[in-house]
Amino acid sequence: MSDVLLQTRGLARSFGPMKAVDDVSIAVRRGTITGLIGPNGAGKSTLFNLLTGTLAADSGTVMLGGADVTGLSPDRLFGRGLGRTFQIPRPFARMSVLENVMLAPLRQTGERLWGPFLRPGAMRDDERRIRDRALEVLDFVTLAPLADHPAGKISGGQMKLLELARVLMGDPEIILLDEPAAGVNPTLAGTLIEKIEELNRQGKTFVIIEHDMDFIMRHCDPIIALAEGRVVFEGTAAEAQANPVLLEAYLGT
Ligand code: ADP
Ligand code: MG
Repeated sequence: MSDVLLQTRGLARSFGPMKAVDDVSIAVRRGTITGLIGPNGAGKSTLFNLLTGTLAADSGTVMLGGADVTGLSPDRLFGRGLGRTFQIPRPFARMSVLENVMLAPLRQTGERLWGPFLRPGAMRDDERRIRDRALEVLDFVTLAPLADHPAGKISGGQMKLLELARVLMGDPEIILLDEPAAGVNPTLAGTLIEKIEELNRQGKTFVIIEHDMDFIMRHCDPIIALAEGRVVFEGTAAEAQANPVLLEAYLGT
């Protein structure tokens, strides 16, 4: 199996005259927590949108697990094991935390999709299985005590954990997190990174966008930096610490 799980070549996307992502070629190695940093407007979220099929690229390719997945829809990519969270979580506010997790998409084979219609009572079994799995996932992200709370009433940090729980329902191989710690109180941010690191030890690959360089330096390795849509640095966390181009890209904002 190849070391590289997710890769782009010459990826580009403009909005009018603005090149939001400009000729980006990166490789994410399996088993890493890769950090994606860059000043505001650098193109980080746009790159995520290109990687996850939320946005179409003007040019370039995306490879996942050795297959060309350029242009596939988010659903198809999700089916291939690519999960992501959004910078701003939007749960169904009036539904409970548990219901929100139960409604998260699952990765299913064709057989499981049709199964419920073929066996009497199977629908109930399926619902029970999904509920059990959702409770398990909520327990993992420490939200089990809030399972019955309306999702609109939990804190911003808890919403980030809820987002992670929803992604985990699909059991993805690689998870893209857009600013998971932004606006989250330090205790919850600590819980979140602890869970990310635990999942990483279990073999999941992460790409994390963070504005906070300190967070990235502490928890991510390697690190990719974008500025004005282009890759300005790709290397280990230790190399990043000492890189003048990188520091300049930050001080320049
Ligand atoms: P980052 O996540 O690094 O802060 P973004 O990817 O959100 O940056 O944005 C990169 C650039 O592309 C910014 O100048 C932003 O204004 C622009 N941009 C992003 N999305 C859109 C869009 N849907 N329409 C127009 N411009 C956009
Ligand atoms: Mg962003």
